[in-house]
Amino acid sequence: MAKIHSFTNQTGKEVPFFLFGEERNDGTVLFDNIVIGNAISTQQASFSSITPKLEKFINYVEKNKLSKQIVCHGHTHPKSQYGDNFSLEDMAAYIIMQEIHPSMKNGTIQTVGCIFNGSGDLNFVLYDEYNKGFYKFPNVKIEYNNGERDSLPAYTKGNYNISNSR
Ligand SMILES: [Zn+2]
Repeated sequence: MAKIHSFTNQTGKEVPFFLFGEERNDGTVLFDNIVIGNAISTQQASFSSITPKLEKFINYVEKNKLSKQIVCHGHTHPKSQYGDNFSLEDMAAYIIMQEIHPSMKNGTIQTVGCIFNGSGDLNFVLYDEYNKGFYKFPNVKIEYNNGERDSLPAYTKGNYNISNSR
């Protein structure tokens, strides 16, 4: 993750990624798998290079009848005046993603969005279709192999000059 962050800040290109994981019984979400796509454009992240990995994940979940699975649609933003914020296209992409597959629509696989921005914040959102609103995740942590956790910055370091979604 540190690599794609510095790559984006150096080149201005957005890097797409998917995080795969599941919700634990205590309500926390654990992502333990990441696939990183090719950075093509400075305007938007293209997910075509990693979409097959998403299809594989969906197939695996369905075949093994898993529940409480989570996929995160993420990309980096380079440092810029508005780059710390989600764009409207980003928000729209998260809403559309919930609709593209039956297992995502019915909640077997929850979908969240993430911007890893130029300021170093890892900002996650969940679109709640019932309430038609976005929820932010203020607590993001990294868990090491020995079980210890450290907090990562989320919604704290960036320049959030546009009023936040709720
Ligand atoms: Zn974006």
